[in-house]
Amino acid sequence: MAVNYVSTRDVNKAEITASQAILKGLADDGGLFVPTEVPKLDVPVEKLAEMTYQEVAYEVLKLFLGDFTEEELKHCINSAYDSKFDTEEIAPLVYADGAYYLELFHGATIAFKDMALSILPHLMITSARKNNIKNDIVILTATSGDTGKAALAGFADVEGTRIVVFYPKNGVSAIQERQMVTQKGDNTHVVGIKGNFDQAQTGVKQMFNDKALAAELDAAGFQFSSANSINIGRLVPQIAYYVYAYSKLIAEEKIAAGETINVVVPTGNFGNILAAYYAKNMGLPIAKLICASNENKVLYDFFTTGEYDKNREFILTNSPSMDILISSNLERLIYHIAGDDAAKNSELMESLKTTGKYEITEDMKAKLDSFYGNYASEQETGDAIKSLYEKTGYIIDTHTGVASYVYNKYKNETGDDKTTVIASTASPFKFTRAVMGAIDPAYEKEEDFVLVDKLSDLGKVAVPNAIEEIRSAEVRHDTVVEVEDMCAEVKRFLGI
Ligand SMILES: *Cc1c(COP(=O)(O)O)cnc(C)c1O
Repeated sequence: MAVNYVSTRDVNKAEITASQAILKGLADDGGLFVPTEVPKLDVPVEKLAEMTYQEVAYEVLKLFLGDFTEEELKHCINSAYDSKFDTEEIAPLVYADGAYYLELFHGATIAFKDMALSILPHLMITSARKNNIKNDIVILTATSGDTGKAALAGFADVEGTRIVVFYPKNGVSAIQERQMVTQKGDNTHVVGIKGNFDQAQTGVKQMFNDKALAAELDAAGFQFSSANSINIGRLVPQIAYYVYAYSKLIAEEKIAAGETINVVVPTGNFGNILAAYYAKNMGLPIAKLICASNENKVLYDFFTTGEYDKNREFILTNSPSMDILISSNLERLIYHIAGDDAAKNSELMESLKTTGKYEITEDMKAKLDSFYGNYASEQETGDAIKSLYEKTGYIIDTHTGVASYVYNKYKNETGDDKTTVIASTASPFKFTRAVMGAIDPAYEKEEDFVLVDKLSDLGKVAVPNAIEEIRSAEVRHDTVVEVEDMCAEVKRFLGI
């Protein structure tokens, strides 16, 4: 009865449990784990409307993580969504200029990655225990900035885990570096490498694939795992906040039970919007899934033409977490719209690997009718931030600015004015310079921390802890190594 997981590339559909899928992360055949079926919400929305975030999360997680006990799940949920968040609501809904902004940035690193990375460590150690794994789990991550910090914050001081994060010494912003090198927790290790992000990523992949190293680790009581965004332990917790947003709208009497809403998601790797798609398939009354891209508009082109083509210039924008040309999680949607057909999906992914593109069939395209894709240029994103601020005083970050612009474009094109939830994926304080520059170019001359205080004044919101902390926090990590010494550094940290 419990939902199991299969690889998107396995024609034999060999099933594993949720906890096994969380431990493995990626399938051996290179595919992603998907649920054998999408379970239906089994609590009426009126009931959900009376629940806290943690209670709603339980109602969602219990359906997808069927081999976890109630006690285990509640322990994971309560350990994740606690005072690390700066509001008891966890994910508040804020109305501004015709839409509800679902603020997913109240966790430790003030971006939506915290929603999943605060619970993943607990799901992972519970999974290890359930599968009789005695080793400590060692998380290895290469980061270009944001994911590394969110993973560090999530795993810090979680018993039974260690985390090592590699970042390019000269390839992250000053604030991002400060956030990482001030990380607390005796089980955390942050290492700069004399190389770029690709080299960090390649070095990490080599360690994951090194059988001799795995044996050496095992003998010392360790094993590697990954906090990558394709892990279902990151995807499933993201479904919960869409259910929560819907139930909040009912609780606040903004919609009637059963009334449909639209959801807008600023998209990069396609994880967040895929969670909304799963929420819809669970029976949550979502009409349109509006996929907002920045100038790297691969997904807009895909939804418009049915062809995915990554052969194009990579554009650096002010919404860097969406600067992506291969949206990994899209593979899960492709598998589902092909009718859970692993052979078809594998064929398309092979084409992506060899030619950089693929085209879906007419049948598959027809199954995308609940999606709408569009994009915002850098100018349009800035305009959206400025105009929302001028109309309402509410200040959004650049990623959310992309979503806000695309939503207004959608509304003008279609006249569809259903109640709409926009996923607000980062605090404006994380992208202070770009946000303040959009409101008034004169701000661009000022120093970062001066702008932080001005943003706080303008938006009438307190400076988040995550930012206050790094102003004064002591540097705890100053290791810098050559690319070829990454493995030696991991062993040194683990004492082997
Ligand atoms: C990661 C991220 C995104 C993109 O989310 P995906 O799940 O990769 O589509 C959008 N905004 C911010 C601020 C992010 O950190």
